Amino acid sequence: MNSSPAIDPARCASFDVDAQRTFTPLCPDELPVPEGDQIVAELNAQAALLRWRVGSKDAHNPQAVWITDDAAKIGQPGVPGPHVEEHWPAHAIAGSEGFRLLPGLPHPAEYDFFVWKGVEPDMHPYGACYHDLAERLSTGVIEWLKARDVTHVAVGGLATDFCVKATVLQLQQAGLQVLLNQAACRGIAADSSAQALNEMRNAGVIVCQNAAELASLLAGNGQGSAKGPANGSGNDSGNSGSTSP
Ligand SMILES: [Zn+2]
Repeated sequence: MNSSPAIDPARCASFDVDAQRTFTPLCPDELPVPEGDQIVAELNAQAALLRWRVGSKDAHNPQAVWITDDAAKIGQPGVPGPHVEEHWPAHAIAGSEGFRLLPGLPHPAEYDFFVWKGVEPDMHPYGACYHDLAERLSTGVIEWLKARDVTHVAVGGLATDFCVKATVLQLQQAGLQVLLNQAACRGIAADSSAQALNEMRNAGVIVCQNAAELASLLAGNGQGSAKGPANGSGNDSGNSGSTSP
């Protein structure tokens, strides 16, 4: 893909990662991400370009061991057990308002595949591809995508610096080419989001500004802002005839 050939949309999936009200100003007492509710149009535009649409949700238990009301503990490690890292305020409790997808997204039943994660009270994964932090217990989404010969996955959702980053890295590590749609994501903090983008780029992820740029990439124009081809020794046979010295 160094010379950015057209990508077959029939082998592409769109992934809405945790695009839930709990991560938006609609639920200010949970884990609101600034502008988290403003990604819907981009998620829908991205999905309209591609053959498959998959999604994930945090689906937490009201008895979860990581729940805290102590502001000083939020985001801090120290929760006992191998499947949990940080403390968080209660969020995305199954059945609550925050658990719902953002207004304007389809019902989960209308997706082609859907993941509910973090149901166990002592498990809080970030990535949507594995139920556990050790990445041993698959949620099945990677296998589902591969069974349909998917090669590329466009990703958006909440939040850039946590669940989106983790899911993107898991997909990329599984051999799928991820196209991150920046306009379809929002992060908790600017610095951690910028760092997450760097980590994703370094892993080979192609970062697109928005669904319009994604459409252009699908058509074979442009190459996003991935690291790009490092060498110029591509096979140019049959092109304009100009040769490198
Ligand atoms: Zn969560």
